[in-house]
Amino acid sequence: VTNRCTVAGCANPAGDAYVCMSCTRDLFADLVAVPWLLDHLAVTLARLDRIMGSLDHTGVAAAAPLPIRWRAVQAAVTLRHTLAPWARRVAAHRSLVCDLTDDQTAGFARWLATHIVYVRQLADAGELIDEIRYAIDQVRRAIDRPPDLSYAGPCDGCHADLYCEADQYGHPTESVIRCHQCRCTYDIADRRDFLLNEARDYLATATEIAQALPALYGHDLSVNTIRCWIARGQLLPRAWLHAGRVHTHRQSDRDRPLCRIGDVIDLARRRDERTTAS
Ligand SMILES: [Zn+2]
Ligand SMILES: [Zn+2]
Repeated sequence: VTNRCTVAGCANPAGDAYVCMSCTRDLFADLVAVPWLLDHLAVTLARLDRIMGSLDHTGVAAAAPLPIRWRAVQAAVTLRHTLAPWARRVAAHRSLVCDLTDDQTAGFARWLATHIVYVRQLADAGELIDEIRYAIDQVRRAIDRPPDLSYAGPCDGCHADLYCEADQYGHPTESVIRCHQCRCTYDIADRRDFLLNEARDYLATATEIAQALPALYGHDLSVNTIRCWIARGQLLPRAWLHAGRVHTHRQSDRDRPLCRIGDVIDLARRRDERTTAS
């Protein structure tokens, strides 16, 4: 009996396994690249954090656009939550030992690569390959972006990611973006609405919000204004950053408040409407 490969879009013969040799080789190449990709993702995050962290000392709004950092964090989380369960499933299926802890993402990739023969025997190996390749692809996309590009959401036509040239503060330096794939063009101002909706529910510190706002809202807002709104009770923190972790309740006086970006934008809009009216 010869099975057909169960990877989406592939119908090669798979012998007595569930995925063909070609798809297996591609998965193997992806898995052995994971440690290298994770190193680069860590460098990308460190760079974005450094740009954000430097604000506290200089007060200069050098912006790492928030959605880019968010994508990098999401990519790391997605990969971890994809590799670990699949490796455990293969281990359980063949009664193999896989004694790794959840945070050992590179370890799970190595484990799957060394047990690739058993991966092929799993009845839902096609699904495994689809999910793992998607997760690894997200990591690749998160690290491939040069710092001087600003993310502008997906293309309406072909869903490719749109990026525009940006200056060191994250402000777009062009007024029109062209999709590299289908050549559609977009007005930068229109794309701002997309970013705004994406970012509204994101929690961030006053400093991060002040940096992100020019790209999201189109106007500057000083970090002092945001702190002032918090002190006066006009802006309610939704969570607190304590010793690097997010808590829903304040743990100490030194905790940094985290606010919802949408709340800040609503206040900024009301303030700007009052200014225009008077
Ligand atoms: Zn295949
Ligand atoms: Zn397009």
